[in-house]
Amino acid sequence: MNIISEIKAQDNTRKFLIELDDNLKVESVLITHKRTLCACVSTQVGCPVGCTFCATGKMGFSRNLSAEEIVGQISLMQSVTEQKITNIVFMGMGEPLLNYDNVVKAVNDLRKQSYSWQKITVSTVGIPDKIRQLGKDTQCQLAISLHAPNDVIRNKLVPINQKFPIKDVLDACKEFPFSRHGPLMIEYILIENVNDKLEHAKELAALLTPFKHIVINLIQCNPVVFSPPSVETAKAFKQCLIDAGYKTIIRTTKGVDIDAACGMLATKKILNAV
Ligand code: SF4
Repeated sequence: MNIISEIKAQDNTRKFLIELDDNLKVESVLITHKRTLCACVSTQVGCPVGCTFCATGKMGFSRNLSAEEIVGQISLMQSVTEQKITNIVFMGMGEPLLNYDNVVKAVNDLRKQSYSWQKITVSTVGIPDKIRQLGKDTQCQLAISLHAPNDVIRNKLVPINQKFPIKDVLDACKEFPFSRHGPLMIEYILIENVNDKLEHAKELAALLTPFKHIVINLIQCNPVVFSPPSVETAKAFKQCLIDAGYKTIIRTTKGVDIDAACGMLATKKILNAV
């Protein structure tokens, strides 16, 4: 596998198009945050989940990546930057827990390479059995891409929710050993007039009451299909969650101008640009 192209955003986010040995391609991203350098890696070529806000989901699914191909993305990106990669998120193309064995092997390989579990985050839309298993098979941080406070909205955004509704996902999270594995992280993409109202924030706050240690990351949606709410609306949503007692962050959106931000990875776009 090798890097066949790179695009750099104005905020220094770097997106790489990586060709695998069978000529299929994935994208990987390096994101600079103050003193940290975070590698966002892909776990599948395309994605079978088909979230409606996500460019990757519109590519369809080709195949799972091997553990070597997942770790290989980090090695390739490390070879073209002097700064040490400090954090790794499994948040690129694909649903990590649908490629479970290779993802666990990759996490364990990275831990042997001196990355502590606090520096490795597996982000999933929520496959309940695999969440339970992950807590037993390795040690890493867990992020749930929730994006909605109820099943009616989530069914429209994350189609796999019809198979694994919110209650089943959160019940599985209750069994994840967070005392050993840090806080539960919730990813919530804010979409104008879909899930961004104060009533949604209140509903979300009520939904998460069983969890003691939680961090909610709000992400302004990138304009793939939907529009983000105004900054004021996002701030009001955040404040409502803070008032309910949750640590809540509006995550800075990185790499928008090169389609490297959350939900924007899709190799066809970069191929068309080359
Ligand atoms: S958001 Fe994640 S799980 Fe959903 S389609 Fe995109 S890559 Fe797949």
